Amino acid sequence: MKILNIEDESKVAGFLKRGLEECGYQVDIAADGESGLQMAKSGEYQLIILDWMLPGKSGLEVCQELRQEFPDLPILMLTARGELENLVTGLNHGADDFLAKPFAFEELKARITALLRRHTRQQSTLQFGNIRIDLLTRRVSQEDQELILSNKEFDLLVYFMQNPNQILSREQIARDVWQIEFDRGTNYINVYINYLRSKLGNAPGDPSIQTVRGHGFAFRIPDDKELD
Ligand code: CA
Repeated sequence: MKILNIEDESKVAGFLKRGLEECGYQVDIAADGESGLQMAKSGEYQLIILDWMLPGKSGLEVCQELRQEFPDLPILMLTARGELENLVTGLNHGADDFLAKPFAFEELKARITALLRRHTRQQSTLQFGNIRIDLLTRRVSQEDQELILSNKEFDLLVYFMQNPNQILSREQIARDVWQIEFDRGTNYINVYINYLRSKLGNAPGDPSIQTVRGHGFAFRIPDDKELD
């Protein structure tokens, strides 16, 4: 579970990072709104902790921009004490929850757990580009056309959809999709990736499984300039 903490006060950021890492989360820090927004847009994070007052882009602007692209991403905003009247503004800009500084770490932890739990319960569909998966019915569609996948192809696609734009090694894929240790002498991952590629659309703008030489694979929407 990866959390992005967009926070310009390095003391607060360091304190949160240490505490949350002890709870088993992976935490990255961005020190200003613009770089935070870029990092958040990578799709790598399951939750964003967003400070209200940031240099460059404000927390509110970051929140609003993120919401347009990621309607379901949990965002917890931090405000300074006395800014509570801003709560309504923040909620209107798409924040899911608020915490006023200074706060007890335990409270932050409880709110994060609650946000993630709520999010997981709501998360019965996955969407990336024009591909949509309904996890309850296991139906997959691309541009409203249903794709028929085997169970393993489905699991593999779900994994790529849950980790878009990330380089996933064969070791990670073996562990997370097949629940086994990767064995270099086998090529089943390549075989299944090729099955899956043959079923996904390959029109411009369609998400595709790209081979990242020496590292693994990444599920991306190719740029126009990459298509030739
Ligand atoms: Ca700040």
